[in-house]
Amino acid sequence: LVIPDFTAFCAEITRMFDAVRDCRDGEVAAYIPQLARADADGFAVAVRTIDGQRFAIGDTATRYCVQSTCKPINYAIALDRLGVDAVHRHVGREPSGHSFNAITLNAAGLPHNPMINAGAIMCASLIAPEQSAADRFDTVMQTWGALAGEGAVGFDNAVFLSERDTADRNFALAYFMRENGAFPDGTDLKATLDLYFQCCSITVDAPGMATIAATFANGGVCPLSNDRVFTSDTTKNCLSLMASCGLYDFSGEFAFTVGLPAKSGVSGALFITIPGVCGIAVWSPRLDALGNSVRGVEFARRLAGRFAFDGLVDT
Ligand code: GLU
Repeated sequence: LVIPDFTAFCAEITRMFDAVRDCRDGEVAAYIPQLARADADGFAVAVRTIDGQRFAIGDTATRYCVQSTCKPINYAIALDRLGVDAVHRHVGREPSGHSFNAITLNAAGLPHNPMINAGAIMCASLIAPEQSAADRFDTVMQTWGALAGEGAVGFDNAVFLSERDTADRNFALAYFMRENGAFPDGTDLKATLDLYFQCCSITVDAPGMATIAATFANGGVCPLSNDRVFTSDTTKNCLSLMASCGLYDFSGEFAFTVGLPAKSGVSGALFITIPGVCGIAVWSPRLDALGNSVRGVEFARRLAGRFAFDGLVDT
């Protein structure tokens, strides 16, 4: 067992959950009404180890929309289908130093990395562009189902519709990238943006998100089904970019203080991967000024302060 005394580990997780729950700092994202209506004090933490132990506490049955946590998954889908060279002809792999939705490209005229909006829109354009919109969305949903377990994943159409209605910045990013010749020839911008908004509107519960994180921790093999979802190279590349770019403009500080690959989203979603050990999901919608879940970041800090994850977890 990678966590030999799982009972003691869960007791520690519960202690951290209780300590962080008292925090009411931050505001729920309000750029669309569907997110503004989220339960500000909702809170869930879930853990799944690569060898099948699991634990969850709080609002574990609530499904929340995944928002930017879809970015590493779309990147991984593109990598698995096209390979690293083809993907990185269209998107860079350096932190941008700019905000997640900044209208800026790197020196090669490409989005800086797949974890910011421009790069995520680019990755959406690379997912099965030859297929119909329905088949492309099916491809994405099947991947989420394989990563998280079918029952954990859904879709919030109201979020999708309002994302699309309020997406001036994402349209601007897409046109800016097209002006700079960043997309593959023949890219349909409208279909690409629709797919990106749909991916942000996928919903998942915390235990499902923990299973996704555990699949990344397990080299791309889902610990629930033992099915390989992504190659180990894809998984490694994705974890590298989560480690350097996963938490908006807090990515460097998070890498310094927590040191674990993770991705956050404006719904208050955060998933953390502890390679070779487990995946952890936190959901708590109140966000700090940089757009990360306040409780999520605080929980991650405490986790990293309490455990040295070096393969075997000694509780
Ligand atoms: N739907 C949001 C956008 O594209 C995603 C934001 C996020 O979670 O960072 O602007």
